[in-house]
Amino acid sequence: MSGASGPELPLLRLALTGTPGTGKTRLSEELQGLVEIQNQSILAETKGFLGQDDGGSKEIDVEGLSTILVEEWSSPPEKTQLIDGHLSHLLPVDAIIILRAHPLVIDARLHLRDYEEQKILDNVEWEMIGGPWLELEEIDIPILELDSGVLDPNELTTEVLNWLSQDCAPERPAEILDWLDDMASKDW
Ligand code: ADP
Repeated sequence: MSGASGPELPLLRLALTGTPGTGKTRLSEELQGLVEIQNQSILAETKGFLGQDDGGSKEIDVEGLSTILVEEWSSPPEKTQLIDGHLSHLLPVDAIIILRAHPLVIDARLHLRDYEEQKILDNVEWEMIGGPWLELEEIDIPILELDSGVLDPNELTTEVLNWLSQDCAPERPAEILDWLDDMASKDW
């Protein structure tokens, strides 16, 4: 869909968050051209808030980044913006899109990457317990939750565009995806 001109969308800054492997990058590619995509790590690096953790991997100082963005983002963007990153919901955005996928789907997708087993397990567990929602409980802005294990990138794009063109209504999913509940209700 790159370069396409689409429906008129509200001028908001959106976070695209979710456990690694839920499809944030893939959905961003689909939405490219319809909204302005910003990668959270690149944004952090540009602003000087990407450091090294003890293990030598890059870590975003999300608090520092948020503090300067509150001022920089005090007026609406010229084009609808989407910040792709698993910590993007902690930035001063106007609304949040959270991607979910069944832990078994995440497990399979992350095994295709050169992630260590422990890192895969950590992410699978985080998704299993609904970790992404734990950090959203206190947040009082519209949230759209989508399952990338069920919807393909094209269907996800349609859902996002519909939600945005309805001014982010409904403000919350009727029911949050709960994998543990899902597993408990199945006969094994
Ligand atoms: P993230 O950026 O959240 O870590 P990616 O966008 O890299 O996730 O997607 C992880 C993997 O899942 C990729 O192989 C991608 O092609 C696949 N994928 C992403 N979204 C979907 C989808 N909606 N349906 C099926 N596969 C998907």
